[in-house]
Order: sequence, then structure tokens, then C-alpha cells
Amino acid sequence: MNLDLNNLIKENLPKQTQGKVASYIPALAEVNPNQLGVALYDLKNKEIIQAGDSDVRFAIESISKVITLLWAIKKLGMQEVFTHVGSRQTGFAFNSILNMEINKLKHPMNPFVNAGAIMTTSLIVEDKKRDPEPFAEILDFAQEICNDPDLYLDDVIYHSERRTGNLDRSLAYYMKSKNMMIAEVEPSLDTYFEQCSMMVTAKSLANLGAVLANDGIKPWDGERLISSESATYTKSLMMTTGLYNQSGTYSRLIGVPTKSGVGGGLVSAAPHEYGIGVFSPALDKEGNSVAGLALLQDIVDGLGLDIFK
Ligand code: GLU
Repeated sequence: MNLDLNNLIKENLPKQTQGKVASYIPALAEVNPNQLGVALYDLKNKEIIQAGDSDVRFAIESISKVITLLWAIKKLGMQEVFTHVGSRQTGFAFNSILNMEINKLKHPMNPFVNAGAIMTTSLIVEDKKRDPEPFAEILDFAQEICNDPDLYLDDVIYHSERRTGNLDRSLAYYMKSKNMMIAEVEPSLDTYFEQCSMMVTAKSLANLGAVLANDGIKPWDGERLISSESATYTKSLMMTTGLYNQSGTYSRLIGVPTKSGVGGGLVSAAPHEYGIGVFSPALDKEGNSVAGLALLQDIVDGLGLDIFK
């Protein structure tokens, strides 16, 4: 690969000072902002290339929405999932309750805003006859798709989210009151807070991106984990709604399906080329990693990965 990742880390790390670590979840406010790491899974050579803080564990947060969407589709089928959640951009913040009220929606707008993600998780929780331990199954699936057996639930972050997650709670109760949500609210929320508190590395996210980029087949053992259809759909959703309200801007600037989380992670899937995981915890106003996005843009430009070019 003709790209000096260590140098790109050095150039982009100082940009973290333009952002701030998430503080609305108290445990996330403790994270050192001065970190930047990247891992790339190269599908052609079947190798992982890493630089910077690529083995540092951090909270997956919203990137877990990709994993629970894929798990819900695998368990319940595309049809069932999309009866309960849409595929549109919202134009509102990721945790907005307003858009559902104003637009008199019958279901949340997409699986990557909090309302849609809580709904998706509630579908997994509701399926409890087949799935008595919904979070245990999500964790297993996350470990498998990230090729990371050490991926674990951080109790401190989980309790911090649970204690302060009143906006998420209000979204869930709103959906329940409008009969959108079938499952019980509290177990659905607990599972949602647990999924957000899973600890990953840039390397785990590169593996997740690689499965998506490889049409749903795990490149490390050649086994299909998810259907081609769900991989394709998820990539298109990442392209249109993966970066909160900056999704449109970054699909123009980066041109690779990407999902962010307020823990500072980014996962990208460059079809048939690379899975990319990035970590840098200082965020811009919209909730995306500042140095992480700058680094991602340099990598995509350097490797010519923009799917529109
Ligand atoms: N746990 C976070 C929340 O519910 C996830 C948000 C995110 O990463 O965008 O607010």
C-alpha cells in the first residue's frame, strides 16, 4: 500500500483539538481526547494494516446500530424489520423526538437515529421465545462480525448510559404510547444501552467494515455471515444516514459508506477493497470524530476509494 499511515496519523492528530469528547454520557467524558488510530482490512491481500491507537478499546455507541440491524435482519428478515423502521434521512439530530411528532410518523425514520435503533433492538428483544438472552446473542454476533473474541460490555459505561439516558427513554416511551413499539420498553432500552457500551478497537471495526465490503462474507474464513442483500442495504444506509446530519456532506467529500459513534469510532466499507476502522474521541458539533474524519478522507483520497469517482 502506497500510503504512509503513521505520517497521516501525525498530520491529523492535532485536529482533535477542534473537537470535544462526548460529555452527555458521563463515562465518555473521561476518555483522553488526544488519540487517533486506524486499521484497514485489505480484501485483495487479506491482511490488516494498523497505525496509531488502533488497539485501544473504546465504546462502540452508535456503530452498534449497524450490528443490531444486521442481526435483526438475519433473525427476522428484511421485510419484518422494515415494517417497523424506515430508510429516510431525518434532518434532525440523532436523538430528536420532534421529527416523529411533527411529521406524525408511524415508525422511526431510519435504523441509525436513536429512535430507529431502539425500535430495531426492541424487535430482537420481542423475539424472546427464540431468544431468551437478547444481549448475549448480540454480543456473540458482534464478536463474530468484528472477528474480536475479546469484545466485551463495559459495565461502567453501561450504567452511565442507563442512569443518564432520559432522552432515549422518552423516545422509547413515545413510540410505545403511539403503539409503534410492541416489546416492553425497559428491557428494550437496557439492551440498547448494553449494545452501545460494547468495547471495540479500530481493528474490530476494520473487520466489521470488511464483511460489509466483502458482500457479507467474512474474508478471514470465507464463510457467509450475512446475506448479500442486507450487506448492500446497510452500506446504502450508511452512505445516506451514517454520519448524522453531516451524512450528505460526507457522502460528497468521502464517498465511502461510513457509520460513526459518539465514542469516536468510524467504520467504513469500501466495496471489494477495504474495511476501515478509525478511532479518535474528540467530536464535532454533530457528533462525528474530527481527526477521524480528516484521516479517513486522506486515506480514501490516497487509495482512490471514493465509489463515485
Ligand atoms: N448511546 C448513545 C445514545 O443513545 C449513542 C449515540 C451515538 O453514538 O450516536 O445517545
